[in-house]
Amino acid sequence: MPQIQKAADKASAAVANLARLMSNIKGPRASKRKTLMSVAHLILLYGAEIWADALDVQKYQNRMVSVQRRCAMRIASSYRTVSAPAVLAVAGVAPITLLARERKRIYNRCQTENDCSLIKTEERLQTLAEWQQQWIIDSGGRWTAGLIGEVSPWFGRRHGEVNFYLTQFLTCHGHFNSYLFRRNREESQLCDYCPGKIDDVENTFYECNRWAGNKHAIETLLGEAITPRNTVSLML
Ligand SMILES: [Zn+2]
Repeated sequence: MPQIQKAADKASAAVANLARLMSNIKGPRASKRKTLMSVAHLILLYGAEIWADALDVQKYQNRMVSVQRRCAMRIASSYRTVSAPAVLAVAGVAPITLLARERKRIYNRCQTENDCSLIKTEERLQTLAEWQQQWIIDSGGRWTAGLIGEVSPWFGRRHGEVNFYLTQFLTCHGHFNSYLFRRNREESQLCDYCPGKIDDVENTFYECNRWAGNKHAIETLLGEAITPRNTVSLML
């Protein structure tokens, strides 16, 4: 399917150019960074009404997913090791295969039905439902799925920006000794503040002696204990 390859190459080049302007720590907010994804989607999804079914072929799907993943990494300022499903969920971007199929459904329905704006709303809901189904059974990004169980409220929120630090918490890929140890960047995976405990995302945010005071202050303010299960719903 040359159209898919061409679109992916074009989008990939556009993403690479724009991504240079977006370092992880400085640079625009995530909501502004999403412009990058809009550009990529404009290129990637051009003509999707015609070729959406070709994404059933794994080779084409992989090519599209890899461009979209790179783009989502720039939105979320994530580490490079985060899986596509997790970084898309954090960035609040529906998977490209589902978006391509949505385009095709909208196009087909608009040929015979009148209210195209209603059709678009209905088909977006369908896409979100499919994304949710995929997200539950996906093998990657399970820490993220434990936090963001429901993609729809996270996707539809009107406040709260992800950034380099929040994304480390949401993906468990970040400046944690256990993560760095697995990549031979640290000699020990133990926490510097909690004797005998592994320094991972769960220790840092929920158990660590170093941050216990901060956590206690937030819990007092909220009037309830923070756990991995309720953190994102409290944020929302
Ligand atoms: Zn600790």
